[in-house]
Amino acid sequence: MFNDQAVGKQARLDQIKADILQKHICLDLAKTATQLVFGDGSPDAEIIFIGEAPGKKEDETGIPFVGAAGKFLDEMINSINLKRKDVYITNIVKYRPPDNRDPLPEEKKAFWPYLLKQIAIIKPKLIITLGRHSGAAFISDLHISRDHGRVIRLPVVLENKETKLTILPLYHPAAALYNGSQRQMLIDDFAKIPIILEKI
Ligand code: URA
Repeated sequence: MFNDQAVGKQARLDQIKADILQKHICLDLAKTATQLVFGDGSPDAEIIFIGEAPGKKEDETGIPFVGAAGKFLDEMINSINLKRKDVYITNIVKYRPPDNRDPLPEEKKAFWPYLLKQIAIIKPKLIITLGRHSGAAFISDLHISRDHGRVIRLPVVLENKETKLTILPLYHPAAALYNGSQRQMLIDDFAKIPIILEKI
């Protein structure tokens, strides 16, 4: 199913997931959640989508973005002639916060090194953050209403090497579902993705 390199990448991703469990990262969240929601999609993806934290459906299934927001995300992925299995989807925080509260700063901090490891393994051309919280984790002075749909290059240290990530902050599909103008802006921003990928 995967080529050899992708199998190697999948094994490395599996190891990170095992590390999160073994090191009891965010044990309080782990106790209230059903399971870890680590990530879904191709280890060879050119695009990683990063949301905030799993919701109820994601907690039940162990797969990110499978609820209403996920269905909308799938539609938009299809609209640029990709399938969900062609991209990789994950969250900043990998357990569902109780009652869907916002993740706490210390929870985001605890999972951050693991997200960077996922990125280092997959080596995507483009990182698409979904929503204000996910975008602000990468871009500290992010204003989502100003910056959505703008490509931002960001230096980070991955596996001890300075690397430039290409980030595209977008509105969150859950917010866009219930707000007509955000929905249209998200659809318009999505339409730019193929051109952005070509230019990288
Ligand atoms: N919202 C998110 O940010 N992540 C999910 O996985 C689902 C909904």
